[in-house]
Amino acid sequence: MTPPLQSVLIVGGGIAGMATAIELRRRGIAVDLIDLDPQWRVYGAGITITAPTLRAFGQLGILDAVLERGYSGRGIRICTTDGTPVDEVSDPAELGVDAPGSGGIMRPVLHQILSERTRASGTAVQLGVTVDALASDELGVDVRFSDGGHGRYDLVIGADGLNSKVRRLIFPEAPVPEYTGQTIWRLFADRPPEIDRRHFFLGGPVKIGVAPVSQQSLYLFLLENTPRRPIMPDAELAAEMARLMAGYGGIVGRLRDGLGPQSPIIMRPLEAFLLPAPWYRGRVLLIGDAAHPTTPQLASGAGMAVEDAIVLGQQIDTADNVAAALAGFMARRAARCQLVVENSLAIGRLEQAGAPPTEQTRLVAQSLAVLAQPI
Ligand SMILES: Cc1cc2nc3c(=O)[nH]c(=O)nc-3n(C[C@H](O)[C@H](O)[C@H](O)COP(=O)(O)OP(=O)(O)OC[C@H]3O[C@@H](n4cnc5c(N)ncnc54)[C@H](O)[C@@H]3O)c2cc1C
Repeated sequence: MTPPLQSVLIVGGGIAGMATAIELRRRGIAVDLIDLDPQWRVYGAGITITAPTLRAFGQLGILDAVLERGYSGRGIRICTTDGTPVDEVSDPAELGVDAPGSGGIMRPVLHQILSERTRASGTAVQLGVTVDALASDELGVDVRFSDGGHGRYDLVIGADGLNSKVRRLIFPEAPVPEYTGQTIWRLFADRPPEIDRRHFFLGGPVKIGVAPVSQQSLYLFLLENTPRRPIMPDAELAAEMARLMAGYGGIVGRLRDGLGPQSPIIMRPLEAFLLPAPWYRGRVLLIGDAAHPTTPQLASGAGMAVEDAIVLGQQIDTADNVAAALAGFMARRAARCQLVVENSLAIGRLEQAGAPPTEQTRLVAQSLAVLAQPI
């Protein structure tokens, strides 16, 4: 069947934008992808990959590369603050998702895998440029680019992340991201052999976890409740992170004792908002974090971004026209993405209220079980 559209502009070359470019090119659709960053960089943190995310990578065709250059283990080991294991949370893999457990990868490695596939797909990539104006009519979208150029497309996709400009252009009334009262710290380190899966260290003043991202390395995350948005010079990060890790034993204590001025630390206050469905107006659609940004409690934002791309491709396969494809996309994506955003925020609130760890892990396990369902 001939697709109901021939040309697409994707604004934003993150996980959502690149996955969508790959899916649309598979269908022979002409794709232009622009990214504001002239170097098309991504910051050097680790990312956790859940079983549904691995399944989505499989459908996109990048699973082998991700497993080769990232890490896959099984489930989450729950530990006390001194490092004693007390519980295990199963992967949805054990609930029927056809994926090899869960795992992790460094963001720049995932970016390299996706960007190579995007370029190889025949997508026309232009960097250092954005959109300044969009005018959607019944048959297409007129676009004015920031470099003075113009274009017309059958569909424009805003995949430009949390602070999406496309969102501001089509939904000027949309809510803006708000600080949630939590800050996440991430540290990149060598992986000792006993850290063979994700570990959470619960019951202390902060929530700490470690996740392998390759055979050699892992990242540690530390979630801190910070009623006010913190601002801190880089030179003070290591000392402050060591203070937050005080009293922890096991791997966390060892990583704390190794902290110094050269330690690779990224500190980021968390922001979120809920954009009501539908996430499109006329022939302009938002996907990924531009539509449903989430805090990282369920580690599912990347998976949702890739699923958006897969579902959009499938809806294009079966729809007679663009409006039907977009309506079909929304019908399949709204509830699932909303669950990720709302339950991530709910877990964040439990963390801030000091709820017992079992209450928090129960909501994590319930959410992952729902996400194990077919997309
Ligand atoms: C602290 C933190 C930790 C996380 N950890 C995990 C995790 O462990 N596992 C997981 O699955 N998810 C995690 N997530 C969520 C995940 O990172 C996101 O859901 C995912 O990156 C969304 O991809 P995206 O392509 O929609 O947006 P982004 O990754 O933000 O990409 C947007 C792209 O658009 C470009 N851009 C921005 N503005 C413009 C513009 N005006 N014009 C053109 N281009 C533009 C940017 O340069 C970028 O390339 C985490 C999120 C946070 C905040």
